Amino acid sequence: MNINKAIIEGSKILRDKLISNSRLDSEILMAKTINKDRKYILLNSNNLINENILNHFYKLIESRSYGNPIAYLTNKKFFWNSEFFVTNKTLIPRPDTELVVENVLNLTKKKKNINILDIGVGSGCILLSILKERKNFYGTGIDISKKCLNICKINAVNLKVCSRLKLYKSDVDKFNLGKYDLIVSNPPYIKSSNLKYLDRDVAQFEPRLALDGGLDGLSEIRKVIKKSSDLIKKNGKFILEIGFDQKNKVINLLNKEGFYINCTLKDLAQNDRCIISTKI
Ligand code: GLN
Repeated sequence: MNINKAIIEGSKILRDKLISNSRLDSEILMAKTINKDRKYILLNSNNLINENILNHFYKLIESRSYGNPIAYLTNKKFFWNSEFFVTNKTLIPRPDTELVVENVLNLTKKKKNINILDIGVGSGCILLSILKERKNFYGTGIDISKKCLNICKINAVNLKVCSRLKLYKSDVDKFNLGKYDLIVSNPPYIKSSNLKYLDRDVAQFEPRLALDGGLDGLSEIRKVIKKSSDLIKKNGKFILEIGFDQKNKVINLLNKEGFYINCTLKDLAQNDRCIISTKI
């Protein structure tokens, strides 16, 4: 069988299972199988592939047909300016979260040598993207998941920011190290009872630990705000990602902990997604 025929077959299987972008996904998974990029696939579509390769390709197609996200099957996701290594132990970096990075960079144009804390660092997409752009900033990332920290470390090596990064395995409540000029966080903020309504790819494959915000969706956000209030320097900036319906509640929580609200930002779908505040 040649590459093109296999891709068509793969695409049919995915379409039958109602996977959107079936052709694209099939191409990406073929590229992954033969360890080439998509351009190679398209330029060499008549090349023959052996049975071993074909079986491996169909395994990936099958896994995708059950909803396993492309990012987990290829172990990579592009975010901001870099490709991140991801596994199903970390949330897949979202385009909406680039809003956090963009605004941190805007806020820190004239700053030098500042210390940034990322609470729930996950794959590292936020913190490492910032460190890559600002060569004299220092980063600290904490996460409750050791597996996430290992992945974050791999990404830090790939992005060459290791020497300016410290990682700690810690619950947000228990972390008491240092004072920070700026804190970022994309904590889990989905109501436990709503997890089942997320897209199947998200609900069944992404780590619950990174999504589940407890009974009212705010359990982790509360802890993150409280801890940030202790660990942030006076006049320090706090950039927090939130759920689309949490703006007013989170503003109240921030005010109670002594934060002044600078602005709220909308994501690509025009949902309230991010709050920028300053510790006063
Ligand atoms: N934005 C993610 C989603 O919609 C949720 C991320 C989070 O809980 N921090 O799946």
